[in-house]
Amino acid sequence: MDSQKIKIDPEKCIGCGSCAAIADQTFEMGDDDKVHVIDPPGDDEATIKSAADCCAMQAIELGE
Ligand code: SF4
Repeated sequence: MDSQKIKIDPEKCIGCGSCAAIADQTFEMGDDDKVHVIDPPGDDEATIKSAADCCAMQAIELGE
């Protein structure tokens, strides 16, 4: 999956780290306590989708 298709809403992200625990080749915590997308993302699409689904804040938006 292209990193451009993975959007994090920094207003919603609470920095819980759940997405990074599931897809650790795609999401990493920044010094600002928000998650950032690693470019290029290293996880397969299903793993990235699982990570996005697990976000309680729905801060991760996946494009087509
Ligand atoms: S699971 Fe959601 S709220 Fe938690 S770090 Fe990831 S994007 Fe942020």
